[in-house]
Amino acid sequence: MQSLEQRAKNLTKHELFGYRTSREIKEGRRLLHDMARHMRPVSCNEIVTYLHMSDIIDKIESLNSDQYLIMSSIIPKDYENGNNVRFRKRGEMVILPRFTSSKIKDDQITPKDLYGLAVEKLKEDIIYGGIVFRSPFSSCVRRTSLDRIITGHMLFSYAKNSKRTGLEVKKIHDRNKDIVEYNGGIITVNLPSKDAQNKGDKRWDIAIKGFPLYSSKRILKKGDEAYPLSFHIHSQHDCGTVKYAFSYRYREANDLCDHVVAAVDEIISYQLESNNKVPYELNPFPVNTQFTLDFYKRLLNNVIVTYRDQSWEKRSRRLDWGEREILLWEHVKKNGFVRTLDTNSNPKTIHVSGNTHRRPKINEYDYRIRSFPSK
Ligand SMILES: [Zn+2]
Repeated sequence: MQSLEQRAKNLTKHELFGYRTSREIKEGRRLLHDMARHMRPVSCNEIVTYLHMSDIIDKIESLNSDQYLIMSSIIPKDYENGNNVRFRKRGEMVILPRFTSSKIKDDQITPKDLYGLAVEKLKEDIIYGGIVFRSPFSSCVRRTSLDRIITGHMLFSYAKNSKRTGLEVKKIHDRNKDIVEYNGGIITVNLPSKDAQNKGDKRWDIAIKGFPLYSSKRILKKGDEAYPLSFHIHSQHDCGTVKYAFSYRYREANDLCDHVVAAVDEIISYQLESNNKVPYELNPFPVNTQFTLDFYKRLLNNVIVTYRDQSWEKRSRRLDWGEREILLWEHVKKNGFVRTLDTNSNPKTIHVSGNTHRRPKINEYDYRIRSFPSK
């Protein structure tokens, strides 16, 4: 068995981010279930499903790496007959709860607690398409998704483990500590592109703004915790994710893409080296467990969707963005926050083949696509 370090070094950009076609998904794998047989198409995009969502999740979770399954699209027909882009813009969002600052102080509430509470409140009959939170200091809504958060952690892990294309905190604008304590820091991070076609040459410089680097004076003045500043994070850069996510739903919205998540991971790791735990504790993004990463790997590599095109021809494709997001939230609903997103509550050690190991950091997870624990 490979050590955690060896596993992490085996990452390749194509393995991580090179989306597979339905033909590539089938290659060398055998069909485990054809769920599409229980999901009857009634028009080009409209599906009647005889399966409960938890059945679908069970079947996906039971896939070994050499198996695949077939399903139909699960984007609700209310969004222009199952239109993925429409769902991305208009789908129901998970909204992080907000509390008064005195409640936050009394109960010592952290961002991770808020995600835990949000997961507890997920409704059985609602299909979710992303996460929304608000800065307590502006009306601008921050939008992101589990799909982008997991991809961001993957990008961080890839860059951290690949010497040639690492991440770099280029500059922390903290000459005026008072202002940083009040408004959060501005940090520029340089990171690689995740485009698998692009041979690792393209890089992004991203400025993360409003990120808590120190306990916040602004909040302490009011007698509160530093943490509300963690939701003040914002970043503008010109990547495709953000460009196409635009909609008129909110008066003001900032889309936080996978580059922002990866940059925040790097800032946390950089600050931990100098024993500053504030960014780690106030990370506005949840960190997925290996269990949820394995589920995500199955979505990318072991599931295909069949559909009828306009001429009623049967076609197949990989899962698209909206479908992956729905399935990720259903996986979280079914398994709960601690197993899926709460890396802090998990034990510090894990047991593999009778041996005790230190719990791996996110960049030490097993990202190989042909290695799931079999059920
Ligand atoms: Zn981006």
